Amino acid sequence: MSLSCDVAVIGLGPGGEALASRLAQEGLDVVAVESGLVGGACPYWGCTPSKLFLRAAHAVAEVRRGATLVGSAEVTPDFAVVARRVREEATDDWDDTVAAERLESTGARLLRGHGRLAGSGAVEVDLADGGTERVEVRRAVVLNPGTTAAVPPIEGLAGTPFWTNHEALEATALPATLAVVGGGPIGVELAQAYARLGSDVTVVEVGERVLGPEEPEASAVLRDALREDGIDVREGASIASVSHDGERFTLHLDSGDVVADRLLVAAGRRPRLHDLGLETVGLDPDARSLEVDDALRVAGTTDLWAVGDVVGRGAFTHVSMYQSDRAARAILGEDLPPYDGSFPRVTFTDPEVGGVGLTEQQARERGIDVRVGTTDLAASSRGFTHGPGAAGVVKVVVDADRGVVVGATVVGPTGGETVSGLSVAVRGEVPVDVLRNSVYAYPTFWRAVESALADL
Ligand SMILES: Cc1cc2nc3c(=O)[nH]c(=O)nc-3n(C[C@H](O)[C@H](O)[C@H](O)COP(=O)(O)OP(=O)(O)OC[C@H]3O[C@@H](n4cnc5c(N)ncnc54)[C@H](O)[C@@H]3O)c2cc1C
Repeated sequence: MSLSCDVAVIGLGPGGEALASRLAQEGLDVVAVESGLVGGACPYWGCTPSKLFLRAAHAVAEVRRGATLVGSAEVTPDFAVVARRVREEATDDWDDTVAAERLESTGARLLRGHGRLAGSGAVEVDLADGGTERVEVRRAVVLNPGTTAAVPPIEGLAGTPFWTNHEALEATALPATLAVVGGGPIGVELAQAYARLGSDVTVVEVGERVLGPEEPEASAVLRDALREDGIDVREGASIASVSHDGERFTLHLDSGDVVADRLLVAAGRRPRLHDLGLETVGLDPDARSLEVDDALRVAGTTDLWAVGDVVGRGAFTHVSMYQSDRAARAILGEDLPPYDGSFPRVTFTDPEVGGVGLTEQQARERGIDVRVGTTDLAASSRGFTHGPGAAGVVKVVVDADRGVVVGATVVGPTGGETVSGLSVAVRGEVPVDVLRNSVYAYPTFWRAVESALADL
């Protein structure tokens, strides 16, 4: 059997789904191919369920802070309530019927199955209900296959029933003990969620600090917060091996063994570039990412595009959506404004860690004449009135030659929101003089930015 279309989209993460819908609404003939659930990781095993977990977990911490703020307060977390909300309210029991119908209502044709390139201008789909479909594509093929959890080559790990983000977010029972390998955003978010909901959690990070790519000041605040939650945070760890005795895991570390009922592997993400037919168009399936230009066209091709985590420009839903919009416009022949590479990133722990643009180290590596300003959020007026839970820091990284902020970090109760103002400053290259000569509402967390600027 064979089909033809204007545009084929392989993989329907947030960006791929939006692009397929958009182009179909613009009148193009679109075939959209998905082997899992329409919408990808974010709504089913990523952003949404993890934020539901965290909302519940942070409510537990906030109620406990009530003891200091207003008098006695008690909460007994019930994991079943959280698991039910994830299943019923967030993921529809991991059923994408509504998303699929929404996509098809735009006129796009949905093929359920595994898609791969079959040379230039053609796609082949192993249909979920059997058989193979070949699709001749007239205008563009867009790849949005996303990532899977990377599994580090630790002796003994393969073959054990470890969790990835999938099992951690599908769980129906709280493990008494949980070991988390990886102190990146996914690892620390889920570690804090499980700890606050009642698990005894250990985080094992082989890098020198949790949230390694973020500012060291951010890692320090978060490490303390995680330890306050009772989490055993082991940084700079070396994992010799992992074993499972049928019931429990043992991680053999240089700093002593960790024994846990469950083991969550959150040690980075691996792009799904294998079995995508990349070799049929002269591309390397072993690459770490697909190189694209600012219109998201894959380097060295004329009719192949890629959006989302696989292009290696930030593994976030908002980045995937931004790229999706650009790719759609480029495929429609529209001119594009310059690419915004200063995207914000947020880790939704408590305190939240918000960042935008370059860290101090990245700015120095680029040869920028760097000035930094920092301030302690807890010491700000809002930090004082907020009381417990106000630990945090604001750090701004300035290009002294140009007099503009090139990066910023806000750690605090609303770090992810507060950093938004600085995102605009970085994106708009707002002069530092203008930022200093501005009025900051009293007593907001945002006002601490003024103090960080004063520290430059
Ligand atoms: C636990 C967790 C929490 C996260 N939290 C946040 C957050 O708070 N904020 C945020 O911005 N981001 C968050 N992310 C990241 C976010 O989920 C991704 O950046 C986002 O989903 C965009 O990914 P994507 O579009 O590249 O692809 P994905 O969402 O991974 O989707 C790719 C889709 O392609 C399909 N596919 C793959 N290969 C094929 C093929 N050959 N044929 C057919 N279909 C195929 C897959 O089944 C999948 O549905 C989180 C991720 C995780 C894992």
